[in-house]
Amino acid sequence: NKIIIAIDGFSSTGKSTVAKQLAKELNYIYVDTGAMYRAVTYFALENEFIGEDFFNEAALIDRLGDISITFKFNEAAGFAEVYLNGKNIEAEIRTLRVSKYVSPVATLSEVRRKLVEQQQLMGKDRGIVMDGRDIGTVVFPNAELKIFMTASAETRAKRRYKELLERGHNLSYEDVLENVTTRDHIDSTREDSPLVKAEDAIEIDNSDLTIDEQLNTLIEKANQ
Ligand code: C5P
Repeated sequence: NKIIIAIDGFSSTGKSTVAKQLAKELNYIYVDTGAMYRAVTYFALENEFIGEDFFNEAALIDRLGDISITFKFNEAAGFAEVYLNGKNIEAEIRTLRVSKYVSPVATLSEVRRKLVEQQQLMGKDRGIVMDGRDIGTVVFPNAELKIFMTASAETRAKRRYKELLERGHNLSYEDVLENVTTRDHIDSTREDSPLVKAEDAIEIDNSDLTIDEQLNTLIEKANQ
C-alpha cells in the first residue's frame, strides 16, 4: 500500500534534498515540480516572452501547447532530470536568471493548470514523493502524508548560496537572499494556488536539523 507524500514549503528549505532521499529509501518516484515551472520559464526566456522589464503573458500562454516536460532518471546523479521538448535542461534551469523569472511565470493560471494536470497523472499509481508549493493543497489534497518545511530566510539563502557556488555560479549572497525573499512573497500572495500550509500538514522547521534527522522523521511518519 503505497502512499502519496506531499512536501511543500518556502524556497530553498531543502525540500528536494530530503524528498529525493526519502523516495529512494521507500523505493518511490520523486517529482520536483519546481523544475517544471522552471522549464516553462526557461522556454519563455528562450523565446523572449519574458525579460528584464517585460512579460508577454499572452504569447507564453499561446505557446503552452508546444511545451513538453519529461523526466528521465540519471543513474549517476541518482535522480530524474528534467527535459524540455527532449532536451536535458537540468543545468539551465538552476541559474539565478531562471530563478528570477520563475515566480511571475508561476502566477499564471494557464501554466498552473497544465502542470498540475501532468503532476496528478504522475501520481495516479501512488508511491510518489512530490515537492513544490501547492502539492498538499491543490495537486494531491488527499495525500496520506503532507509536510510543510520552513527555515529562516537567512538559513535558506545561505544554503542556496553555498549550493550555487559549488555549481560554479558567480553571484553574491545578497542576490540570493533577495531572490529567495522575493519569490516567497510572490508565491504566498498570488491569486491562484498561493503557498500556504495545508491544514493537515505537519510543519517541520529544519533550521537546526541535519538531513539525516529530517529523513528519519519522514520515514517514521511514512511508515505510520
Ligand atoms: O522548488 P523551486 O524553488 O525550484 O520552485 C521554483 C518556483 O516555482 C517557486 O518559487 C514557485 O514560484 C514555483 N512553483 C510553484 N508551484 C510548485 C512548485 C514551484 O508555483 N508546485
